[in-house]
Parts: sequence; structure tokens; C-alpha cells
Amino acid sequence: MTTHEVKYGLPSTVKFCSKCVISNQRPASAIEFSHTKNSRKTTMNIDNDGICDACKTAEQKENIDWKTREEELLSLLDKHRSKDGSYDCIIPGSGGKDSAYQAHVLKYKYGMNPLTITWPPILYTDYGLKNFRNWLDVGGFDNVSFYRNGRVMKLLTKLSIENLFHPFQTFILGQKNLGPKLAAKFGIPLVFYGENEAEYGNPIADNLTSLRDKSYFAMKNLNDIYLGGVSIKELKEKYEIPLKDLQSFLPAPQEELEKVNIEVHYLGYYLKWTPQEVYYYAIDNTGFQARPFRTQGTYSKYNSIDDKIDDLHYYTTFIKFGIGRASYDASQEIRNQHLTREEGVALVKKFDGEFPDRYFNEVMEYIEMQPEKFHELSEQARSPHLWDRNSSGKWQLRHNVCKTGLDD
Ligand SMILES: [Zn+2]
Repeated sequence: MTTHEVKYGLPSTVKFCSKCVISNQRPASAIEFSHTKNSRKTTMNIDNDGICDACKTAEQKENIDWKTREEELLSLLDKHRSKDGSYDCIIPGSGGKDSAYQAHVLKYKYGMNPLTITWPPILYTDYGLKNFRNWLDVGGFDNVSFYRNGRVMKLLTKLSIENLFHPFQTFILGQKNLGPKLAAKFGIPLVFYGENEAEYGNPIADNLTSLRDKSYFAMKNLNDIYLGGVSIKELKEKYEIPLKDLQSFLPAPQEELEKVNIEVHYLGYYLKWTPQEVYYYAIDNTGFQARPFRTQGTYSKYNSIDDKIDDLHYYTTFIKFGIGRASYDASQEIRNQHLTREEGVALVKKFDGEFPDRYFNEVMEYIEMQPEKFHELSEQARSPHLWDRNSSGKWQLRHNVCKTGLDD
């Protein structure tokens, strides 16, 4: 057997889960501000029985006593609920289906007074902006939308593509950091996110707690922080960005969060979370609307539709890990029993890796990158253990879930 070079610390042998369509190449969600060119990925565990951790988590969910979990939620909320009309919890979100659902149930079912907080998409889609407005106008919520230094945002997004082939990093950074950071500033210690990353394949133990690990949003030492794969020192010296212009991209210092006792919870730990049901809830209660067209790279119309750069993000996961957006979407729907594995396999075959040309040129213009440069980076990002050229010179996966890869 020949061995091929393996990038990103991925497992050298490709395995697919026998229940869903995900492979063992799927990275767990990482701490974005530690991410460098040399970072090694922690990836999805697939046990000897052939089943991935995310499918096991989904099975466990069936045995959870949701009544008890709701009681746990109620006692947490009772501890924090304000009696004088002030805000008592923070909900970071963009008005997509998940944050729409969170804010709405917490306010109207459980009597909380949430302040919603938004780190806007890198480039809003028309549908994303409309859903954001409906969230507040139809749902009825106060919101702080934080617009960060746009010039630095552009540069960091460009650097994260150049160094990490990761177009979505600047969005994820703010999405994880801003909630806890503003919670500390406003003195509102309770922060809610939606689903736990573990449901999609972080180490399974992460799923046993309602709390998000602080390492995702707190910083101990500025010297350990990288943005776009570049150290703070280098950003200051080589790119001439003063520290004050980087503030909004940095996580909060740990001491600052501890002073206010910030607790970041997953609402999905307490309430049974099914993306399809959350979607219908958001339609009924906050005027959420799917896009009338399919998202490129997948078959769905309502998942993560607010950022023009999101489609490109999933294209890069296809290049780096051999896992496109249809694989992610179908795996989730198989676990929730909305699709069979056969249907999932067919959807992956049809849509995974489709090039997202709808917004591509606009994204390139925004970050001031030549499209050719992006394609060049894409060539370099392909790990030889996943890709090879076929007899007509086109890139093809060595292994795919349909078992029709070059080496299958
Ligand atoms: Zn699975």
C-alpha cells in the first residue's frame, strides 16, 4: 500500500459512519484563536462498531429525561430572572432559526427578559438581513448589533483564507466571543447559545454538561492568540495594525469574565433540539423565512443563510476534509430521522462540493483577492491522502460515501 501525505493531522485512513454520511475526517470545532497553519485537528471518532460519536449522541438524546432537564432549566432561570424589567440573559445570534427560537421561548414561554446580541455576518445576504429584522420586529426583542472595524475585518478574513483556507474564521471568532464579552460589560452573567457542538461530533464527553468550555471564549495570554493564523505581534509589526484595532476580534480576558461570573449555557442541553422543528417554530413566531432557492453545495434552503461567505466556507471544508455542505446537512437529518441513509448518500453525491459561484465574485471583491488566487490556494489545500487527479486530469476524491472514489 502506498502512503500519501496527510495534511492537518487528519486520520490517514478514511472511514465513513455506517449510520450517517459523515467521515472520520470531520474536525471537531476548534478554538479559533489558537488556529495556525500547523494546527493538528481533533477529528470525529468512529468506533469499531462503525458508528460516529454524533450518531451516538443523537441516540442518547432519545433516552434523556427531558422533563427533568426542563426543571433544571427552570431553577437556573429562577435564579437569574429579573423583577425590575432589566435584562437577565444574553442571547447571541443573527436571527437565524436557532437564535430566533432561543430568544422567543426564553422570553415568552419562560418569562425572561433577554438582550439579543449580534455579531453581523461578514456579508449579509438579503434574506439574512430580512430575517434579522423580522426577529426583532416580529419577535419583539431588544438588540445590540456590534459593527466591528471593517477595514481590519476584511484583512483578517483575507488572512484566514490565505493562511488557513478558512473564510469563516472572523465570523466564528465574533460569534463565540462577543456574547460573553458584552455580558461582562453589561453585568448580565447568563448567556445562552443553542446547540452543543458535540451533537455534531466534538468529543462525546462535551455533551454531558450544559456549560460551554471557557477555552472557546476566554483568553489567558495575549501572546497565545492568533487571528487569521497570524500572531498578535506579527499583526502589529508586519501588518501595522495597532492593538486597539484588534480589540473586537479578541476573546475577553478570563479575569474579566470571572469577575461577573459569566456562565455560558447551551439551551439545547435543557430542551430537545430538532433543527427542523426549530425552523417551523421560527417561521410561526418571528417571521423567519427560508430562501426560495437551494443553497449551493447542498439541498437545503434554511440552514445558515445569512452570510454570503458561508457557502464558500463549506466549499473549503470539502477541499480540506472531503466533506461538503450536503454531507453535514444530510448527516444531521439522518440522525433526526428525517432522511434515510440511502437518501443522504444520494444527496451527497448530487450536491457535495458544488462550487458556490452565486456570491463568489462579490466575496473576492470584498476581501480584495483575485479569484485566481483563491483557486491556487484551493489546489494547495487538498490533502494528497484524500484527493488525486483522475485519468482526465480532474480532481477526484480517493474515497467517498458512495464508494465510487478513485481508490475505492
Ligand atoms: Zn454517524
